[in-house]
Parts: sequence; structure tokens; C-alpha cells
Amino acid sequence: MSHTFDTTDLAQCPFMPVFGAPALSMERGQGTELWDTDGKRYLDFLSGIAVTSLGHANPVIADAISRQASTLLHVSNFFANPQATAAAVKVNELLQEATGHPGQLFFTNSGAESNECALKLARKWGGRGRHTVVSAFGSFHGRTLATLAATGQPSKHEPFAPMPDGFKHVAWGDLDAVRTAVDPSVAAVIIEPIQGEGGVNPAPAGYLQGIRDLCDEVGALMIVDEIQTGFARTGRWFGFEIDGVRPDVVTLAKAMGNGMPVGACWARTDVAAVFEPGDHGSTYSGTALATAAVSAVVDEMRRLDAPAMATTKGARLTDLLLSLPQVESVRGAGLILGAQLADGIDAPTVYRRLIETGLICNAVNASTLRLLPPLTVRDDELVEAVGLIGDALAEVAR
Ligand code: PLP
Repeated sequence: MSHTFDTTDLAQCPFMPVFGAPALSMERGQGTELWDTDGKRYLDFLSGIAVTSLGHANPVIADAISRQASTLLHVSNFFANPQATAAAVKVNELLQEATGHPGQLFFTNSGAESNECALKLARKWGGRGRHTVVSAFGSFHGRTLATLAATGQPSKHEPFAPMPDGFKHVAWGDLDAVRTAVDPSVAAVIIEPIQGEGGVNPAPAGYLQGIRDLCDEVGALMIVDEIQTGFARTGRWFGFEIDGVRPDVVTLAKAMGNGMPVGACWARTDVAAVFEPGDHGSTYSGTALATAAVSAVVDEMRRLDAPAMATTKGARLTDLLLSLPQVESVRGAGLILGAQLADGIDAPTVYRRLIETGLICNAVNASTLRLLPPLTVRDDELVEAVGLIGDALAEVAR
């Protein structure tokens, strides 16, 4: 059976055509490396979009998952299970260290569900008449109807109009725009510390603190979406730490399971307390299998000092990228980096060339390559990847 599909004939593909038809099929991974079904090797500088931060087939995570798979996968939420409890305590500890607040979490299966939970929590917190959520243009918060409504990309709303109401969008990075939007009808502001899908756009200095102050003035919640930036990716455990702010609600997913589908919505205990039994739920919230992976990820990231790894390797990757004549600047933090290409160099063309030569990253817009290697990436892999990028850029520039 063929594992890839004729990209010009979507009807022949067994998947709904939302991702186009995948032109490559990946079979195996190890650390930073991936092999496709034809046996071709790639360096993975995308990590499944900031997911496999501890590398593919990480033996510690694989062992935790396989041991749990033969012990207990799942019980209903009528019962606790030791893995979910242990993982919740570990994640709550990380967030208490980062925010200074004790808190509680709800486990989800994806980033969108983490944000969906946060949006419901904000509406319950706000009460009738105070349910508006403010977010930034260019943001990405998910694909469910409510998280799509929060996502500040009108072109993604258009095919599914009308959107659920109660969402306002403001210009990214503009504190005055947030000040105008945050009126007494606002229950929460949801913000990414670095817009990932929006093009690797770090929050300007003081922006997050300004939002914190505005939320405090009107009694609105500050929700930070750490789905792409959380779990050490930025060189801090959470991206909001770069600005030293203390959010009320934090949403998580992606690297939290290193590929096991799992996320969480965390809130300060007094905020979480507005939820009552029956207000929210999910059959798969906190399965033993997924949360065994979460515990192993947190333990392994602490053991490795993952934030320090992201900082050191991010600085090295930035230097290497800036040595390329066609890279104008590099933005981001730690190992979430956007290489801004010189005028006239088309990032999607470079991306396609890199796939041919064996490097996976992505063109997050027409002129930016986004690099999200695993935090465990080796120095020789950084050098090899930037060598491939240099060759591709030189070729496309010609
Ligand atoms: N929020 C942010 C910041 C994201 O980057 C993403 C995914 O890219 C999401 C939410 C949605 O997560 P998921 O695709 O797991 O639903």
C-alpha cells in the first residue's frame, strides 16, 4: 500500500482534505532525526510543531508509556488514578513556582481543549453580562468554534461564520488597544507570550505586564496561552516568565506529553473554584496513559534543566543563523526562533528545498522560517541544519 497520496487528487486520500494531501509519510524517529517510509533521513527542526521537545523515541518517555500501557490505560473520572494525581501535582508545582500562586488543573487532550476550558472558566468567573474575551490579531488559540473565535485571524473565521459571540480582537503589541477594549463586560484577556503560528512574534517588553495591570483594574482574568511556548521551549519553564508576570490561568499542551496527546488548563485555586461538579468534563481527562507521559516529561525536563538547554542552544542556533548572508534577523526566545529572510527570498520555496535536502522546519509566513528543534538537539545537528539552510538560501537567492 502506498503511504503517500497524489496531492492533485484529494478524493483518493483517506483523510479529510484539511491538511492538503500529505506528500511524505514518516515512519520512525530517534532524537532529532526522522526517517520517511522510503528510508530517507531528515533532521526534525519542527518537532511536530513544538511537541517532541525531548526528541523522538526518547527512551525515558517511551519506557514510562510502555510500562503504563501494560498496567492501566484508562478508568472513568468516577475514579482517580495514581498517574493523573502525580502528574497534576508536578505540573501544579511548576506553575506555582512560576506564578507564586497555588492552583489546580484540568487535563485535556489537546491545546484547543485547554483553551476551551479556560474560556468556559472565564465566562463562569465573569458571570452573566461579563463574558467577553479579548485576544490579539495574529493569535492562534485553536480550531474548535470558541477557540477559533478567540483566534485573531478573520480569514479562518470566514468559512464558518457566524462565530460564537463574546470575542474582541485588538492589534498585537498595542497596549492602548487593549486598554480601549477592556471594559466592564470583559471576563478575560487571552494572550500568547510569543505568537507562534502568527509568525514568531515575541510580546514587546512590558506588554504582558500592562495587560496584567489592565485585567487587575477591571477584575478580568489574564489567560496566558502557553501551548506552544510552555515546558521550557523559550528558555523559561513558561514564556510569561520572560516578562515576570503572574497570569491567573495558563493553558498547556504540545510538549507536555512529548507526543502523547495531552494538555491542561491550569488556574489559581480561587479562580478554579468557580467550576462546580458537572460544569466541565471529558471522558479522556487525565487518563493513566497520558499522564504517565506527563510525569516522565516533567521529571526528565527537571533532570536535564530543560530551560537552560533551550537558552544555550537557542543562543548558538541564533548565532549560526545570523552568520548566513540571507538571514536578516532572528526573533523569538530559546528554541522557538523565526529567521527573517532577506527581501525577495520566498520562505515557502526555501522550505520545499529543505525538505528535499533533509531538513524539516516550516515557513510560518512568506518571509520567515520557523525553527523549533527538540531541546535535546546536539551541537553537530545545529551545525548540520544551518549548513542545509545556508545552501538552500544561496540556491533560492540565485
Ligand atoms: N494555542 C497555541 C498557541 C497553539 O500554537 C496551538 C497549536 O498550534 C493551539 C493553541 C491549538 O492546539 P491544538 O492543535 O493541540 O488543538
